[in-house]
Amino acid sequence: MGRAFVYVILGGGVAAGYAALEFVRRSGDSRDKLCIISDEQVAPYERPALSKGFLLPQGAPRLPEFHTCVGANDELLTKEWYSEHGIVLVLGTRVISADVRRKTLLTSSGETISYKTLIVATGARALKLEEFGASSSDVRNVCYLRNLGDADKLVDVMGSCPCGKAVVVGGGYIGMECAAALVTNKINVTMVFPGKHCMNRIFTPKIAEFYESYYTSKGVIFVKEASVTSMEISAGKVTAVMLGDCTRLPADMVVVGVGARANTGLFEGQLIMEKGGINVNGQMQASDASVYAVGDVAAFPVKLFGGNVRRLEHVDCARRTARHAVAAILDATGSVGDIDYLPFFYSRLFSLSWQFYGDNAGEAVHFGDLAPGDGAAPKFGAYWVREGRIVGAFLEGGSRQENESIAATVRHGAAVPDVPELGRRGLAFATQA
Ligand code: FAD
Ligand code: NDP
Repeated sequence: MGRAFVYVILGGGVAAGYAALEFVRRSGDSRDKLCIISDEQVAPYERPALSKGFLLPQGAPRLPEFHTCVGANDELLTKEWYSEHGIVLVLGTRVISADVRRKTLLTSSGETISYKTLIVATGARALKLEEFGASSSDVRNVCYLRNLGDADKLVDVMGSCPCGKAVVVGGGYIGMECAAALVTNKINVTMVFPGKHCMNRIFTPKIAEFYESYYTSKGVIFVKEASVTSMEISAGKVTAVMLGDCTRLPADMVVVGVGARANTGLFEGQLIMEKGGINVNGQMQASDASVYAVGDVAAFPVKLFGGNVRRLEHVDCARRTARHAVAAILDATGSVGDIDYLPFFYSRLFSLSWQFYGDNAGEAVHFGDLAPGDGAAPKFGAYWVREGRIVGAFLEGGSRQENESIAATVRHGAAVPDVPELGRRGLAFATQA
């Protein structure tokens, strides 16, 4: 049993949705040429919604409202859109092996799908506590968050313990966004993580202090420099979380966000890997010319960082690398150059909202008022300066125009002749440049 396509996208997440739209826009007719294979049951959707609006106690969006590409204020691609454009959407189907030499994929239903060009968009998976030695499998009130099924479970579990106690394991993106959602659902939250402060890898201690104070004012308790060693489980449900120093944290539910790993397994030994992902060039093309990789799974050269290879697990990167790969694949004239990407991350927490551009390397120069205010919307940020130039910028509470200004400052690598003066000018350095 088998089918053959010119183009196959493996994975049906954010990158797949943006790639599909780009195919249609650039080639006009993709009828029966393009196939998307996904082990999810639904057409590609904007994954960031799962830790934000989806968890709201009231007015939470549900599919089809957040299919791609609404996150970029673009067309909403429902299942019908794919069939109207002749794109074959193979849902609820896992690819269990790939043969790069033969250009074939074997699915869980026993079908062999062959391609001329493959776009790998398999994203990443949530790390499990088991990988750190603590068992959490098959426990009804322990939640991870990667896909729609996980989000549905989280909503159910939150509903089953009103005003209860939640332990959030991890102080990264999932931990911070889910803690905010839990509080909004009137659940008492204790956050546990191994670092000295939350968002260890991107926030400076000063920036983290602002968010931790804000969360504390909302009732969140932080347990830092701590690790979970085990869980007390009774009748299939967790009742407490045990920490390395023997602290026992009673829990009606647990949310775990301890990092992600790129889904590269199908291609290990067949393609060159780097930084935990599939190594690609500036056209998103892998070490085998018929394979492209995009989104979380791709490790690609960032021109702005002197061609340094990065793997970025963020939605803007998934959207842009997907579009770039399709542009390169359909480029008949050789006019599509290498991707020139400005790394961009963001998060929304309670009524707060931050954006970050570039690299958090070099000296951090803070600006604005970092003390949580008395009702006034906070606005503060930081620039990262390396070798006399701005390489990164963070802004909380910025307007669209202000965020665009800091992005432009990073993109142009604005020169900083006087670092203390940069701190004094703060946001104006970017907006009045
Ligand atoms: P994914 O969107 O993960 O899609 C991968 C797809 O491949 C999935 O459908 C998966 O099921 C499928 N797949 C994998 N293996 C197989 C296989 N063998 N066979 C068939 N199908 C397979 N980033 C931000 O910048 N801002 C945010 O606010 C933000 N919020 C987030 C919230 C949550 C809850 C999560 C989990 C992530 C968030 N991210 C955010 C990160 C962002 O969503 C990812 O960077 C983005 O989804 C990556 O897109 P992708 O297409 O590479 O991978
Ligand atoms: P992160 O890598 O952001 O954070 C992982 C967190 O877990 C860190 O605080 C880390 O601490 C902590 N940790 C590591 N090991 C342990 C342990 N044994 N016990 C307790 N804590 C531990 O991953 P997330 O899980 O938060 O996010 C998963 C994926 O989802 C990522 O790809 C992320 O980019 C994406 N995502 C992005 C969002 C956004 O961009 N707004 C929102 C939601 C998800 P330390 O750093 O101190 O080691």
